[in-house]
Amino acid sequence: MADHYHENCQALLGSLSEYIDGELPPNLCEEIEKHLEGCENCRVVLNTTKRTIDLVRVEPAREPIPDDVRERLFLRLNLDDFLEQKK
Ligand SMILES: [Zn+2]
Repeated sequence: MADHYHENCQALLGSLSEYIDGELPPNLCEEIEKHLEGCENCRVVLNTTKRTIDLVRVEPAREPIPDDVRERLFLRLNLDDFLEQKK
């Protein structure tokens, strides 16, 4: 049981920033919220992370990724996909 809980915590903390940014699908958010209800440890981490993000973010609106950065990122992702397929 303890191991099962730990696994859930790992998964939750791994997608915490996406959850805070609202980038996760609703069903996943629900699962996370359900877990948070029963896990004080994750609630503390979530609150701490949220506070940190609020401090870091000066602008209330999210800044879009600059075009050149996004292009490089996409290029890299495509390249990685390509390389994996070739293997
Ligand atoms: Zn947890």
